[in-house]
Amino acid sequence: MSMFGQVYVSNGKYRLKGDFHHLTPNIPIRNAEDGWKLMGVTNPRSMTYIHTYGGEAPFFEALGKGKLLGTRCDNDECEFKGTIYQPFRIHCPDCLGRNTVIDMTATAKKTAKIHTFMVCERSGAFNILDKPIKFINIEFEGVDTILMSYLSLGDPEFGMKVVPIFRKQSPTYTILDLSWVPEGTPEKDLPENFGF
Ligand SMILES: [Zn+2]
Repeated sequence: MSMFGQVYVSNGKYRLKGDFHHLTPNIPIRNAEDGWKLMGVTNPRSMTYIHTYGGEAPFFEALGKGKLLGTRCDNDECEFKGTIYQPFRIHCPDCLGRNTVIDMTATAKKTAKIHTFMVCERSGAFNILDKPIKFINIEFEGVDTILMSYLSLGDPEFGMKVVPIFRKQSPTYTILDLSWVPEGTPEKDLPENFGF
């Protein structure tokens, strides 16, 4: 049995396998100024959270295959028909209709550039990105929204042309499978497990 809980779906239901929580011994909390009297206990807990992607699942599946999916409103009744969304939006915010999923990998490779950026020297708990983290906002030709992501190599500049890279080896199925590098970066310089 796996140490980590695993989930799959069958007949429309979650099927759970493995351990979803682990009991860890309590440790006493004592008062150093008062003869080490007992004050309480720690309750260490580790749990597996089941996070459902719903209609966004195709986006995360595609990243590991080197594809960037976006969505487009194709509703004839919508005043803003043809609007393209990256990040991926399941529904059109104007007509609330279901958007069409589109492959915009080629558009990203040809037209992505840094709209603005932010360099963070510190980060919060559970961060696994290398610091400083170079957060970038990316604009694309013909796309009406701006994508938040991170630059893996080089230093960000306004208007800088960037290309997407994908964690094709050992994908995590999270947004971290997508990153960006300056246009013209050779494939051999990419971070481990990433490719164009
Ligand atoms: Zn619409």
